[in-house]
Amino acid sequence: MEQRLALGIDIGGTNVKLAIVDSDGRVLADKSIPTAPERGPEAFSRTVGAEARAMADEAAVAWDSVAGAGVGMAGFLDVARGWVEEAVNLHWRDVPLADLLRSSLDKPVRVDNDANVAALGEVWLGAGQHAHTALCVTLGTGVGGGIVIGGRIHRGASTMAGEIGHIMVKNDGELCNCGHRGCLETLASATALVRHALQAGVRRPDGGELTAKDVFALAAAGDEAAKAVVGEMIHWLAVGLAVVANILNPDVIVVAGGLVNAGDQLMKPLSEAFEREALARVARACRLVPAKLGDQAGVLGAARLVLQDIESL
Ligand SMILES: [Zn+2]
Repeated sequence: MEQRLALGIDIGGTNVKLAIVDSDGRVLADKSIPTAPERGPEAFSRTVGAEARAMADEAAVAWDSVAGAGVGMAGFLDVARGWVEEAVNLHWRDVPLADLLRSSLDKPVRVDNDANVAALGEVWLGAGQHAHTALCVTLGTGVGGGIVIGGRIHRGASTMAGEIGHIMVKNDGELCNCGHRGCLETLASATALVRHALQAGVRRPDGGELTAKDVFALAAAGDEAAKAVVGEMIHWLAVGLAVVANILNPDVIVVAGGLVNAGDQLMKPLSEAFEREALARVARACRLVPAKLGDQAGVLGAARLVLQDIESL
């Protein structure tokens, strides 16, 4: 049988998303299962193998038609070997994940960083479609980044390309968990936004735990302290994007993460600040757009890792 399908596997700290995807990006079957990383990578891989086959059966997809599996996950990876050097959120270290999954799935397996596969997903089917040079930046606990050039992930020498969260944008800024000071992540992540809002005295009217979404909502409602904190965050994000854009000259920058739901409240001032900070010819060539695929970008991009290899055969 012609093998034109791929299994996408998006491993998060809590859940694993599985999807069987065809070469046009149609999802033929999908499901979400608990990650339960404490069982260890061997048991994890056996469960994924069993669940993926059961999912294919239920959707009447022949397992033989699945050419391979792509995996997206957070952590330091050796992509060439499919090895997890360290996944802090799963408490895994030195795991031959591609080998383990290959034996449980009986398919070739590709493993890549979550920000990279999300970027690939957005370029394939989402906000970055038709881009030649795309930067995808995800605002969450940290600031993640992925670069896709000519439809392929740009990984660099040691899979560290696109680590936009750790470019230094503020001299003598706050200490980052990477050990440096003033990283973009300390200024423009959702976590940083909440921390700075609390420092500025921003509070929820009902006394509940403040979230990044709350800070944007309070700013939209006219809370001066919240407005100032949001403005500051957008300024630093624009500075970081401009630094990278001046090097990459991308035709699109996709902004992803829950904060994108703020819509124009984020994207409009961000675009304006980006135009001020980047070289004029760089800014003119670049669309700054919100992500379209939401939390599906990772699993679709992971499937794409495999499908593009089939296409290039
Ligand atoms: Zn850092």
